[in-house]
Amino acid sequence: MRILDRINGYKKIGKPFFSFEYFPPKTESGLHNLYSRLDRMAGLEPCFIDITWGAGGSTAETSLTLSKDAQTYFGLNVMMHLTCIGMSEEKLRSALDQARDSGIRDIMALRGDSPRGDRGTEPSFIESSIDLIRWIKKNYGNTFGIAVGGYPEGHPEAKSKDDCVSFLKKKVDAGADFVVTQLFFDLEEYRLFLARCAKVGITCPIIPGILPIISFDRFQKFTEFTGIKVPPAIHAALDPIRTDDEKVRNYGVELCSTMCKELLSLGAPGLHFYTLNLESSVTETLQKMDLLDDCRTRRSMPWRASKVDGRKDEDVRPIFWSNRPKSYLARTMTWDDFPNGRWGSSFSPTFGSLNDYYIFRRGHDPAVRENRLKLWGSPKSEKEVADAFANFCLGKINFLPWCEMPVQIETSRIVSDLVTLNQNGYLTINSQPQVNAAPSDSPDVGWGGPGGFIYQKAYVEFFTSKENLLALLERVKETPSISIHAISAAGDSHSTLDDQAVSAVTWGVFPGREIIQPTVVDSKSFKIWKDEAFDLWLDEWRALYAKDSESWNLISRIHGDYFLVNVVENDFVNGDIYKLFPCFKGR
Ligand SMILES: Cc1cc2nc3c(=O)[nH]c(=O)nc-3n(C[C@H](O)[C@H](O)[C@H](O)COP(=O)(O)OP(=O)(O)OC[C@H]3O[C@@H](n4cnc5c(N)ncnc54)[C@H](O)[C@@H]3O)c2cc1C
Repeated sequence: MRILDRINGYKKIGKPFFSFEYFPPKTESGLHNLYSRLDRMAGLEPCFIDITWGAGGSTAETSLTLSKDAQTYFGLNVMMHLTCIGMSEEKLRSALDQARDSGIRDIMALRGDSPRGDRGTEPSFIESSIDLIRWIKKNYGNTFGIAVGGYPEGHPEAKSKDDCVSFLKKKVDAGADFVVTQLFFDLEEYRLFLARCAKVGITCPIIPGILPIISFDRFQKFTEFTGIKVPPAIHAALDPIRTDDEKVRNYGVELCSTMCKELLSLGAPGLHFYTLNLESSVTETLQKMDLLDDCRTRRSMPWRASKVDGRKDEDVRPIFWSNRPKSYLARTMTWDDFPNGRWGSSFSPTFGSLNDYYIFRRGHDPAVRENRLKLWGSPKSEKEVADAFANFCLGKINFLPWCEMPVQIETSRIVSDLVTLNQNGYLTINSQPQVNAAPSDSPDVGWGGPGGFIYQKAYVEFFTSKENLLALLERVKETPSISIHAISAAGDSHSTLDDQAVSAVTWGVFPGREIIQPTVVDSKSFKIWKDEAFDLWLDEWRALYAKDSESWNLISRIHGDYFLVNVVENDFVNGDIYKLFPCFKGR
């Protein structure tokens, strides 16, 4: 769906939207960190995100990769910026062809500036934003929606503010769908800009661009660079605290949320944040404004749907990849048909290899390696490994090889049980609580929109020793409502289910619709997942240590000896999955 349609959708329901701008980082570890951030911020459900374009195409490759990955793996609607100064026709075509082929449907068309103050490193095929819009329209028809930049205080090259807005009108007339403004701090300037736009007949959405003040130095750099006005009150507030980063940041959030409220009251359809690739100030601002409350319930599925063409009708996934959704998407990227309602139609899916997934495996980058060592340490015993898993459940660390995202809010219902399991040698990597008819707009387990009811079978997946597994298998014999499937790296398998079994573990009942069962447990995909899950011990964790060191040997041993186990409590009304485990004796 084009961004303009999404904007109109928000307008229809009377809700303001928000969007985030990111720029391509220069280093591999910067890119890695940005991917984690994008993943988390995707959970805030922005209307769209946009990725900037380096002057003369200097960031072409990273801007394109980032845009494509954000769209494909993070379920975000991406708008890619494109500047024309210093770009040949071939470069422009290549950028737009690649964007189109990656499913990107919106471009911010900009003239741009030369990086060295001249006309760029090579002659420009197109020199004006208006010509760029016309050229895209002529060559790509309606493939792309188009946004343009607007300048509330006037562009430095404009003869006057009125001239600048007349030029903006020409950009809109050439085919722009909406305008995103340059950052500003003076609300009066913005109000006057809106009045000038209205006077010349610009009627498309105008989205104010907002920069949260994160540090005094950056604030100064940006305001100097753009030459935008800073009202005296902001100077007065910042001057006494300029050397105290924490106070500057807090003031920035306060100012940003006050500005945003006023912008919405001036009729802004949404808020566009210049994130500078940072997360907390924007998130805090949105929280302060109560704009995040119901984002979970706007989801159509419990998982975040990919926005690439061809996956729109996907309505069921195996639970195993729920903490590694990007891997699942990468492995199933070549599927042209997704299981529809019942997983059975894709019983023999050719899960792809992880070739396409290299971007998320960056364990060998020194900065990434260092960070992982900080998170997981250099364990000398199985207990120390278990501690890392327990710390993940407690939110003390935010990443494990099997869990790319911090624990989900719904996990808070079962977090103490999971910690107990980990402390007793069941290293949990996935779980969901039992839910019996929770409202579909419930903030922790809700999905699919209001008016329905959500059901979940309790599920827990973990690695454990053979000894622990054998004890569990004995107890399962006395608990018919439990299904269990365990498998070792070598393929030694124990299961209470037959090979063809598929069990829905999440389903929703909605007025006027068939029952939706978006998450399943099935034996076949568990076997495929098992290879990936065991490989992660070696590729992501063991790879941190020198060969034959104590930690290296420990992780090798766990990989060789442990079983990957999934357990489902089918009694979603009265069952208690944790009773199965000896450590919950007497419960
Ligand atoms: C939302 C936003 C995102 C941006 N993203 C990027 C990015 O990703 N990468 C990047 O390098 N830069 C980016 N920029 C900066 C932008 O490239 C610069 O501001 C550049 O100088 C102008 O580009 P433009 O397309 O807005 O220019 P235009 O709108 O084409 O021109 C800017 C102004 O110059 C005057 N002008 C230009 N041509 C004429 C003419 N023929 N006759 C009369 N007046 C004229 C007009 O006043 C006009 O408003 C962004 C700016 C904004 C506002």
